Amino acid sequence: MKIVLLGPPGAGKGTQAKSICNRYNIPHISTGDIFRKHMAENTPLGIEARKHIDIGHLVPDKVTIDMLLERLKNEDCKDGYLLDGFPRTVLQAEALQQFLESNNERLTTALLIEVPREFIIERMTGRRVCPSCGASYHTKFNPPQIQDKCDICGSDIMQRKDDTEETVRERLDVYESQTQPLIDFYENKNLLSKVDGTKAINAVFESICEILGDEK
Ligand code: ADP
Ligand code: ADP
Ligand code: ZN
Repeated sequence: MKIVLLGPPGAGKGTQAKSICNRYNIPHISTGDIFRKHMAENTPLGIEARKHIDIGHLVPDKVTIDMLLERLKNEDCKDGYLLDGFPRTVLQAEALQQFLESNNERLTTALLIEVPREFIIERMTGRRVCPSCGASYHTKFNPPQIQDKCDICGSDIMQRKDDTEETVRERLDVYESQTQPLIDFYENKNLLSKVDGTKAINAVFESICEILGDEK
């Protein structure tokens, strides 16, 4: 199963990705998580990415595409994967398409989690993340069992630097101008499926499982 998750920042992509990948036993590939790891380690890629991420802009296509395609060549991707946060531009989507075609493969689906703009600020400003495993929490909608500790790995959870209201507004504008065109891109290829992301986390996951079915 090869899945692309689409949706605005705060749609719940990371949250649903964890459950989907558990259930279907595929790797969760989050370009945001990969960039954050590089940033934490101050690698050249991390230093470059930080300049864009901190102000809510996209990391340039070339660096992002090279990094992602390299990741997809990994052994663990041969039976499928879930892409969370990639593609974010038409150029990225075309690069992925070419990569798949050159390997005689195709996407199972591009799953769009729909959440209107007015929900996003509250979701994003209340978001807390685990820097070790990438798990996502919310102070009100999905608090961890022990305050400020990750349920999965026990690390201290924290707020992302780019989750301030001002940066989130910028990211929403970037989403609307650069990423929203991918909805048509995948619809035209008959690959798009949609779920209502305003429902509770479990209810969204149930809708996703209905779409994905039992297929592995
Ligand atoms: P969100 O939770 O908003 O969906 P992510 O964790 O996926 O955020 O991404 C955080 C930031 O990393 C983005 O705002 C962007 O700067 C950068 N980034 C992640 N994926 C991509 C990508 N595919 N192309 C360009 N930039 C990306
Ligand atoms: P994305 O990866 O799309 O940016 P996340 O999965 O990190 O989004 O979710 C953004 C924030 O909203 C997190 O704080 C998360 O706990 C919360 N959240 C996710 N899904 C829901 C939902 N269905 N209802 C309420 N809050 C949610
Ligand atoms: Zn964790």
